Amino acid sequence: MTNILTQIIKTINNKKYIQPFIITSKNKNKFYESIKLIAKYILCIKCLKDKCIIQNLCLSCKKFNYDQHPDYYEIISNENNIIQLNQIKKMLNFLQFKPVISKYKIIVINSINNMNAKACNSMLKTLEEPKNNILFLIIAQNKNINKTILERCYVIDIKEKNIHKTTFTKLNILKKYLLDTQCNYTDKLYINFFYKMEKTEQLNMLYFVLSSLMINENNKRKQMYLFKLTTTLNYYKFLLKENYSLDIRLITNLIKINLKY
Ligand SMILES: [Zn+2]
Repeated sequence: MTNILTQIIKTINNKKYIQPFIITSKNKNKFYESIKLIAKYILCIKCLKDKCIIQNLCLSCKKFNYDQHPDYYEIISNENNIIQLNQIKKMLNFLQFKPVISKYKIIVINSINNMNAKACNSMLKTLEEPKNNILFLIIAQNKNINKTILERCYVIDIKEKNIHKTTFTKLNILKKYLLDTQCNYTDKLYINFFYKMEKTEQLNMLYFVLSSLMINENNKRKQMYLFKLTTTLNYYKFLLKENYSLDIRLITNLIKINLKY
């Protein structure tokens, strides 16, 4: 995910006008949340965006958190799984004015494969005149879409293979983060992602990292200690199932403190 963000930021910083992005992924719904997070990150007006998008410190992040950001617009397919012309027209109204809070206006479309012909034509006209303060993040399940639209866009392919690789990378980053005593871990965005994930998934990831640390630990005493930590995580999983509210940030910090010794 960080790679996609880097790619987007590079492109929007270097150009006089911003080319629309098409991001293809088979799993469009799983991906949609990630794209939203990227949008929030780009819209954020604080310097320390990593921190801000999690804690909602700036006006932009606050508004985004309540789905009230005046510079953010979504086009989602309707109950019949279609994106229609009137949805594009509403978006054109939204684009008439300059950004209110942020540097850009961002439009997320999920997904362009569901756009009917009339909507596509109207969309094309908008894409023909790219601007320097409008960013399109268009999700597609495959490249089976209007050819001219495809030509106008910068396409980022998320391959299934890469997704597996990403999971592996994510676990490694989490491991570094847990072991890092001075908080200078490099990939802060991944850690932000981690804190945004579902709690069960967060616990699973923590469990996985701790187990792998335990298996690779030669010191018996430390190994035992890691074992205890994994057992505690199992207990947390149980609590979660029983609908107890858990503070994962607190749990993660406790693990971090424990791993210091
Ligand atoms: Zn912010």
